[in-house]
This record gives sequence, C-alpha cells and structure tokens, in this order.
Amino acid sequence: MTDPANVLPLPTPNAESQAFWDACTDGRLTFARCTACDAVQFPPQKSCTACGGETGEASEASGQGTVFTFTINHRAPGPAFAERAPYVIALIDLAEGPRLMMNVINCAPEDVTIGMPVRICFEPRGDMALPQAEPA
Ligand SMILES: [Zn+2]
Repeated sequence: MTDPANVLPLPTPNAESQAFWDACTDGRLTFARCTACDAVQFPPQKSCTACGGETGEASEASGQGTVFTFTINHRAPGPAFAERAPYVIALIDLAEGPRLMMNVINCAPEDVTIGMPVRICFEPRGDMALPQAEPA
C-alpha cells in the first residue's frame, strides 16, 4: 500500500467547487463575475464575496498572467515533493484580476522573476489536473 506521504496531494472538490475542478481537468481555468458589483469570484461561487450578490455563469480565463511575487522552496514538505525541490511557489496575477497561488513550472526556478509574463498550464495529477503557471 502506498504511503499517503509519498503521493502528491489532490484538492478535495465540494459541491460548489466540483465544476471548477472538472473544468481544470478539461484544461480550462474558470472564474465568475458578480452581476451586481462586477467583482471577480475565483474560484467561481454562487454568492459574491464583496457584496453578497449573485454571480453569473463561470467564464474561462485567458490564461495570461504575470508573477506578482514568488519564493523558491528548497526543502520538500514531504517525500512526495522531494523530486520537485527546489520549486517555485508564486502569486500570479491573472489578466482578469484574480491573484492565484501556484507553482511556476517548465523552467528553472532561478529564471523566474517578478513581473514575468506567464500562462496557465495544467499539471495532470491523479485523475485531475491542477492549474500551474509556465513562462509565456
Ligand atoms: Zn458583488
């Protein structure tokens, strides 16, 4: 039996986030906008976190973004991450406004810079796919 510490963690979708994670698995990053105040809701949810109003249908993000800030993690938090270290944990500003925490992959950690243009890519993990960033 595989020790859970040796397996990269997966999100646990709930009733509200299942559609978001299904979209990620299909290679689409989605968000919603409040129909009352226009605030972006990421991940999509039924009620606006700014005003409590209703949000519209989820839209697909362009996938374009920039690195707001980042750190390079040299110490794996567990055995599952050992092969990844060192790796980049970054805050990515999406073109649509949301700021997301994700890894910057498909480049050397030392090549990541603040303000660097990135695009969203999807890392297969288990039977899901997680949104990550890569150099644009
Ligand atoms: Zn609102």
